Amino acid sequence: MSRTFSPRFNHFLAPLALLVGGLIVARQVTLNEFFTSLYNVLPTVLLLLGGALCVVYGRVRELFLLLCVYIVYFLLDTHADYYRSHRKLLDDAALTFHLCSLLLPLLYGLYGVWRERSHLAQDGLARAAVLFAVWVVALALARRFPEALHAWLVEIRWPALRAEWLNLIQLAYPAFLLAMVLLVVQYLRQPRPSHAAQLVALFGILLMLPQTFSRPGALNVLSSHVLLMLVVAIAHEAYLMAFRDELTGLPGRRALNERLQRLGRQYVLAMADVDHFKSFNDTHGHDVGDQVLKMVASRLRKVGGGGRAYRYGGEEFTLVFPGRSIDECLPHLDVVRQSVEAYALQLRDTDKRPKDDRRGRLARGKSSASQVSVTISIGVAERQGEQRSPEEVIKAADQALYSAKKAGRNCVRAHASGRGAVRMAERSS
Ligand code: GH3
Ligand code: MG
Ligand code: MG
Repeated sequence: MSRTFSPRFNHFLAPLALLVGGLIVARQVTLNEFFTSLYNVLPTVLLLLGGALCVVYGRVRELFLLLCVYIVYFLLDTHADYYRSHRKLLDDAALTFHLCSLLLPLLYGLYGVWRERSHLAQDGLARAAVLFAVWVVALALARRFPEALHAWLVEIRWPALRAEWLNLIQLAYPAFLLAMVLLVVQYLRQPRPSHAAQLVALFGILLMLPQTFSRPGALNVLSSHVLLMLVVAIAHEAYLMAFRDELTGLPGRRALNERLQRLGRQYVLAMADVDHFKSFNDTHGHDVGDQVLKMVASRLRKVGGGGRAYRYGGEEFTLVFPGRSIDECLPHLDVVRQSVEAYALQLRDTDKRPKDDRRGRLARGKSSASQVSVTISIGVAERQGEQRSPEEVIKAADQALYSAKKAGRNCVRAHASGRGAVRMAERSS
């Protein structure tokens, strides 16, 4: 999946909105009864819902991130509740809080970057063993040597870095920093929505912890929003997996089928196909073939006239123009055809490429031997006359594509039922 994703602001949109929403709600001095009850049950509901999604989609990593956050929420919530009703802290509240501030970022960072293996059961067991071991050791130490552990946790190790606004123990900050760096690197290497959500969620945890006792409800609200970020990211990725083509990043066949069900009474469908793609693949290899498909997809994505491109399968693409007539679409299709033809694709010749990046950039564009260009043929049809269902219109567009291939390729042809259009297509190509 990582191949098609590039860093995008929209990966951060939902988690950032949830973070800002959580911070605003957490600032309310008192929440009304409805929201208080809602946020009391929300973390548990989200753990169950997210856990079920993780099991269904086989997402072990996300399952353990949810568990890490939930365990800390659970441990701190007992103390926060007690503090609110009695206005004093339980004996071990401070120790539990400091332990959580240190262990949560460490475990969260570890689970965030721990790569999933194909054996889900083994993977899950290994993660569970680590989680269990860490908490059992920590709680055993807290029981046996509470004072020594507390003193070790709160020790000021870097007096120069003391500041009023740093409310957590000093050790927590390098732990958060380490987790943050790991997750940033992970996002840059694999810019996926779930990696973006993990990063923002960690930031949410960092803002949540200091408010645990100082703001009533802040722990419930912020941990709910953090868990929600992770759950939404799981759903987002499941959606992308089902509806987006991995190689080109265009919506795939499933998304096209879904779109075809919602078309009105007037629309145009075009089928585009890469010319001589098989021999291109045979000559330059499958990797270069994939590069071509990505380039063609990036041109088709920019089609004007309100059109939307989908990968139909293989080297075939479908363009959907809702509410348009064939004559309105033809000029836009021809612009796309020309832009593919005009694109000089650089072949990455790893043997000849200079090792030095700067020299590589200078050399680029100078040697024509490493440039190739490809062309596409397009067949187009609109809903009218005999063609009433989207399947029939696609069939008609396919027939027009066949005529375009027969006419010598690198051209746009309209189905014979759009008479005026045929002439126009012939003129324009
Ligand atoms: P024409 O001009 O008549 O369309 O000829 P063509 O060679 O493009 O047509 P054909 O349908 O025979 O070849 C399609 C080729 O596309 C076959 C297959 O090797 C290649 N192909 C299909 N999907 C992919 C893909 O995802 N990546 C790569 N690299 N090649 C693919
Ligand atoms: Mg084909
Ligand atoms: Mg082809």
